[in-house]
Amino acid sequence: MIQRDYLVIGSGIGGSSVCEGIRQFDKKGSVTLVGGETYYPYKRWMLSKQFLREKTPALKKLPCLEERWFDAHKIETRFGTVVTQFNIDRRLAVLGNGETIEFKKACLAMGSRPVRPLVAGIGLGNVIYLRTIRDALALREMAQSEKVIVIVGGGLLACEAAASLRQAKLKIAIMHRHQSLLNRYLDPDTSTWVTEQFAKKGITLLLGSSLNGFEGKTVLRNIQTKSGERVAAGVAVVACGSEPNLEIVRNTPLSGPHGSPVTDYLETEEKGIYAVGDLAFYPDRLMGGMRRQTHWENAREQGLIVGANITGKKRQRYEQIPYFWTEMFDLKFDFVGDFNVPATRVQLSGSYAKGRFALRYFQGEKLRGIVLCHHSAGEVTSAKNELRQALGK
Ligand SMILES: Cc1cc2nc3c(=O)[nH]c(=O)nc-3n(C[C@H](O)[C@H](O)[C@H](O)COP(=O)(O)OP(=O)(O)OC[C@H]3O[C@@H](n4cnc5c(N)ncnc54)[C@H](O)[C@@H]3O)c2cc1C
Repeated sequence: MIQRDYLVIGSGIGGSSVCEGIRQFDKKGSVTLVGGETYYPYKRWMLSKQFLREKTPALKKLPCLEERWFDAHKIETRFGTVVTQFNIDRRLAVLGNGETIEFKKACLAMGSRPVRPLVAGIGLGNVIYLRTIRDALALREMAQSEKVIVIVGGGLLACEAAASLRQAKLKIAIMHRHQSLLNRYLDPDTSTWVTEQFAKKGITLLLGSSLNGFEGKTVLRNIQTKSGERVAAGVAVVACGSEPNLEIVRNTPLSGPHGSPVTDYLETEEKGIYAVGDLAFYPDRLMGGMRRQTHWENAREQGLIVGANITGKKRQRYEQIPYFWTEMFDLKFDFVGDFNVPATRVQLSGSYAKGRFALRYFQGEKLRGIVLCHHSAGEVTSAKNELRQALGK
C-alpha cells in the first residue's frame, strides 16, 4: 500500500495551492496530488474568456503550475485519476486504477461541476457544458459548424461565454428565465443596462424564457421553453449553476447540503482533513454566517491557508472579504462583498454612459457590497478595505 503524509484530492487551483502552501512549511513530507483531469492545474477562468475568443486556443497561457514545479518540489501527481472511495476512519483513499493510498492528513479540493437540469433531451449531442479544457475545446469545434448557439442561463458564466463567442463572430442567443442578465448579482437598473449592452452587440435575447427541454433525434435541433415556444439551435451551452463534487464523502459529516462544512481554519470535523475552494462551506467571520464561494481567488487563498495549516507549523484563519471578477465584451466588473441578498439601497458613483462606475449596495444602513466597473487592482483593494472598515473589522 502507498503511504503518504499528505493527500490532496482535486488538482484545480484549490488543490494545487494546497501543495504550494505545504511546501512553504514542510519541505520533506510526502505529498500526492490526485486529479480527475489529465492536465496540470490551469486557469479555469480563462475558458470562458480569451480561450473561446481567440482564433487558436491559447493552451500555453492556461497552466498555473507545470510539471517542473511539481518535480522540483517533490510532489507526486496523479492526473487523469479519480479518488473513488474515501475511508475517513482508516484514512484510506482508493483510486480509479484500484490503488490505495493511506494518508495521515488530507484535503478535499474536488471543486464543482455544472448543474444538469432535469429536462428531456439533456443527453442529446451538442447539449454541452463549460467547465474543463475538454469542454472548451469541444465547444470551439462545434461552434465552427453550427449556425446558432444558444446559451441557457443568464449568470456570470452564461454572459461571459456568450460575449466571447459573439466576439468570435458567431450567432449567439441567450435564453434566460429572468428579464435581465446578471440579475442575481446586480441591482435592477444596472442589470438592465448590462442587458442592453448585450443587445447592442447583436446577441439575441430570449428573456423570461424558462427551459422545458431539448429536442432532436440524436443531436440537438430545438430548445423548448415552458411557454411552448421552440427555438432552433445547433449547440446549447447549459450554464445553469454548479454543484459541489462531494460524492466520495456523501452521507458523512464531511458533506452537507451547502458543501463541506469546515471551521475558521478550513478543517472539517475530522481532525487532519480539510476542505477548500468551490466545495468548502466556511464561517465568514467578516460578513457573517456560513458561506460557500465558487470563485477563483477564494479557492486560491483557501488553498494556501490549508497548505500552511495542514503541516501543523502554522495556524491561520480564513478571513477574507468575498471577491470575484468577471469580463464580458469591454466590461470588467469586480464584486467585493456579499451579493446573496438584494440591496435595499444602491448608491451609484460615475456613469453608465462612460462605462466606469461604482455601486455601493446597502442593507438598511449597512454597506454589504461594492461593484466596480472598469477599476484598477488598487481600487479593488481600496474597496475591500472600505468594506472591512464599514463592517468594523
Ligand atoms: C469557465 C469558467 C470561468 C470562470 N471564470 C471565473 C472568473 O472570471 N472569476 C472567478 O472568480 N471565478 C471564475 N470561475 C470559477 C473558478 O474557476 C472556480 O471557483 C475555481 O476553479 C474553483 O477551484 P477549485 O480548485 O475549488 O475547483 P475546480 O477548479 O473545480 O477543480 C477541482 C478539480 O478536482 C477534480 N476532481 C473532482 N472530483 C475528483 C475526484 N473524486 N478525484 C480526483 N479529482 C477530482 C476535478 O476534475 C477538477 O479538476 C470560472 C469557472 C469556470 C468553469
